[in-house]
Amino acid sequence: MLPLPGIDDLGDIEGKRVLVRVDFNTPLVEVAGELTVSDDFRIRSAVVLFNELQSRGAQVVACTHLGRPNGRINTEYSVEPLRRRLNELCPGVTLLENLRFDLGEEANSLEFGQRLCEGFDAFVNEAFGVSHRQHASIMVPPKLLPSVAGPNMLLEVSTLLGVFNEPQRPLVAIVGGAKVHDKLAITKKLSEKADRVLVGGGMAFTFWRALGRSIGDSLVDDDQVEACRALLESGKIVIPEDALGLRTGSSFGAEHNDEEVIAFDCEIPDGFLGLDIGVQTRHNFAQEIGAAGTILWNGPMGVFEDNRLSGGTRSIAEAIAASTATSIIGGGDSAAAVAAFGMMDSFDFISTGGGASLELMELGDLPGLRAIRECAWN
Ligand code: AMP
Repeated sequence: MLPLPGIDDLGDIEGKRVLVRVDFNTPLVEVAGELTVSDDFRIRSAVVLFNELQSRGAQVVACTHLGRPNGRINTEYSVEPLRRRLNELCPGVTLLENLRFDLGEEANSLEFGQRLCEGFDAFVNEAFGVSHRQHASIMVPPKLLPSVAGPNMLLEVSTLLGVFNEPQRPLVAIVGGAKVHDKLAITKKLSEKADRVLVGGGMAFTFWRALGRSIGDSLVDDDQVEACRALLESGKIVIPEDALGLRTGSSFGAEHNDEEVIAFDCEIPDGFLGLDIGVQTRHNFAQEIGAAGTILWNGPMGVFEDNRLSGGTRSIAEAIAASTATSIIGGGDSAAAVAAFGMMDSFDFISTGGGASLELMELGDLPGLRAIRECAWN
């Protein structure tokens, strides 16, 4: 991929108005009747850029989406709690209201993008996590303003591509999560690039079905069984040998009862479902991880939000933390899991964007990056 311009390429910005697209989409919690930012990691990460732009004399205005208000103004999704935290961390930066209050944002409307850019002299894209989306705030400003990538964006892109293209071998990839459909393309790409691909989480059961194993009521994507069978032929895919689960209909997830989980060997009978990798699999995966030179991890090994079913994901996090390999966590739910385990500092790099990091590795570029490279001012 061609290099991207950074903020030095904007030249003199003294007295200029700079629009910065950030990704402050972060969970909010109610404290004393007021919505509050529970994890300010994304806001703190942007402070270096804001300070730098301010020190060069620019007036900084940031914009973000928050949740899915579906094109309607909805106070539940107002950025007001983000503004309060931003003002504490970096006074003087204005934050525009939720971009997704306007249908034009997700529709990539030129007219909405033009309104957004009015009165600005330059644009910085510091929102890696949404740069795989062709949304107006990502795609339109580079058509209208001198536009560059922010420092976190540059670091994220070069780290992910560097590790993916020139890994220390063996390269061990770990994929999990619920949706085999979403992750099959990257699993295929990983099976070409990596030496081993460990598959866990709900997506593993489609591979079990491909081998003719019974899976009870576990998650499965019947349309993908053939594709999984073909992938198994690469000889690089390592799937679980056992699982933990529950009786069908039991409650599980963040709010659950105390029913005991059940261990299954490589078959799950009807009336039950698999929800985490089992003890033997944790051991097998840890051995593969221990031998790795580079580790890429995307997706939890089980329903980690439920402490009865978080052990598999935790065992992977611990095995990676104990290894000497370069480790990259691909954002999204795996990042949420390591944050919940208090292990954020145990890895070399945690990507801020799950979907964006997968697409960057799969396709080698992102629409938001291309837009900046194609900006007429660069
Ligand atoms: P994804 O968005 O595809 O990365 O999936 C993340 C979600 O997968 C998390 O919320 C997990 O709770 C869920 N998950 C992981 N393993 C399983 C499983 N075996 N069955 C159902 N859901 C799962």
